[in-house]
Amino acid sequence: MPNPPITNFVSESAPYATTCDRCGKTFDARVTEALVGDDHRWDLDAHCPHCDLAWCECAIEPATAGMRNAILAANGFTVLKVEKGSVTTASVMRAVRIACFLSLSEARSVADELVTSGRAGSLVEVEVLARLLRASGAVVSTWRRGEQGSE
Ligand SMILES: [Zn+2]
Repeated sequence: MPNPPITNFVSESAPYATTCDRCGKTFDARVTEALVGDDHRWDLDAHCPHCDLAWCECAIEPATAGMRNAILAANGFTVLKVEKGSVTTASVMRAVRIACFLSLSEARSVADELVTSGRAGSLVEVEVLARLLRASGAVVSTWRRGEQGSE
C-alpha cells in the first residue's frame, strides 16, 4: 500500500494504561488516533518495561472511551467553527450526520453549535468533520482550545 501524502495525515498520541498479557503488570502503552486518507483509525503500541514483551494492536474497532479520554487529556481539545452564512444549515447537518452518526435532532443541535460557539473534539474528530464541511462549501476555522481568545 503506498503511503498517503503527508498533508492527508493527522494524528494525536497519548499514554494509555495497559495490562501486559504475559506478566500481568500495568504500564503506559501509547495510543494513537489517526486519520490516514479517509481511514479514521486507532492503534496501540505497547512495550512492557517489566518483561520486555512488545505488541501492537492496529485498527482497533471501536476505540474505548478511555482511549478517547487519553487523547484529549494529553493533547487538549480542538475547536471547529463554521462561518455563519457560508453554507446552509442543511449542508452542515448532512456533514455532521455522516461524520458523527447522529439522529436528525442531534445533528441539528451540533450544527447550531458549529456556527455559534464551535464544537470541540480531538484533532482527528475535528478534521473528519472539517473535511466534509469544506467539501460542501463551508468556510471553517479550527484552533486549539485555549489558544484563541475565549469565545
Ligand atoms: Zn510484561
